[in-house]
Amino acid sequence: MADPAECTIKVMCRFRPLNSSEVTRGDKYIARFQGEDSIVIGGKPYVFDRVFQSNTTQEQVYTACAQQIVKDVLGGYNGTIFAYGQTSSGKTHTMEVSYYEIYLDKIRDLLDVSKTNLSVHEDKNRVPYVKGCTERFVCSPEEVMDTIDEGKSNRHVAVTNMNEHSSRSHSIFLINVKQENTQTEQKLSGKLFLVDLAGSEKVSKTGAEGAVLDEAKNINKSLSSLGNVISALAEGSTYVPYRDSKMTRILQDSLGGNCRTTIVICCSPSSYNESETKSTLMFGQRAK
Ligand code: ADP
Ligand code: MG
Repeated sequence: MADPAECTIKVMCRFRPLNSSEVTRGDKYIARFQGEDSIVIGGKPYVFDRVFQSNTTQEQVYTACAQQIVKDVLGGYNGTIFAYGQTSSGKTHTMEVSYYEIYLDKIRDLLDVSKTNLSVHEDKNRVPYVKGCTERFVCSPEEVMDTIDEGKSNRHVAVTNMNEHSSRSHSIFLINVKQENTQTEQKLSGKLFLVDLAGSEKVSKTGAEGAVLDEAKNINKSLSSLGNVISALAEGSTYVPYRDSKMTRILQDSLGGNCRTTIVICCSPSSYNESETKSTLMFGQRAK
């Protein structure tokens, strides 16, 4: 297990295969992989903790990105796994889970659709939490999966166009693990956040008005405040701007300090998406 005092942020980068519309359009496959940790786009190398080529299996990604965090959470640490990238780059595919979500800075409970605007409070130890959010007691992996499915179907019910919606909201799944040794009465608790972020693509400035523009501004603001928090942590700065967005406040005690963080940067390998892919890779580099 890693040194408990150390805050580790790992940045992994995953490229999906070209999809059928990219192939049909005749896009080029622009990613050049170098060893296990670097990727070259347009002649420029980008180095991460690990780079996954398009043919990497889900199991290989899980082993490299999540297995150690899951072990550490069972050992009483907190952790967060993020998926970051433009729409259709493979974020949801990588997380496999999709509960509450943050949309236009409003927190909606995905296990109780009547709760549409929950607020963030602090407990007596000043740890932020979402007040009134549904909690489920689960004892087995099957119950975890059932809970995930329930959240997913609520998400579908609440919105008309699921793909569009998921690209504009962050979904956050929190697993709280509490263990007690009945002989020693020793208690251990850890939490794991799984965060499937909103699409990072730039909304074209021309034509975006009203609600669409509000959404775009909100996404940009929350993704950039996440980027600021992560780069402050990576640089070891004394001031970390957690309070700048609801998401970073909620994640405060699972990012930095006693925590394990992995960011999976998801990319399209297509020439058509080159500029978005470069900006995604730059976001990942800021966290290193
Ligand atoms: P995002 O959540 O980033 O918008 P998705 O995870 O929904 O993107 O992926 C878009 C599509 O591409 C889905 O149909 C998904 O199954 C497929 N896909 C994504 N990543 C991979 C991958 N590594 N291998 C195969 N198919 C993938
Ligand atoms: Mg998605």
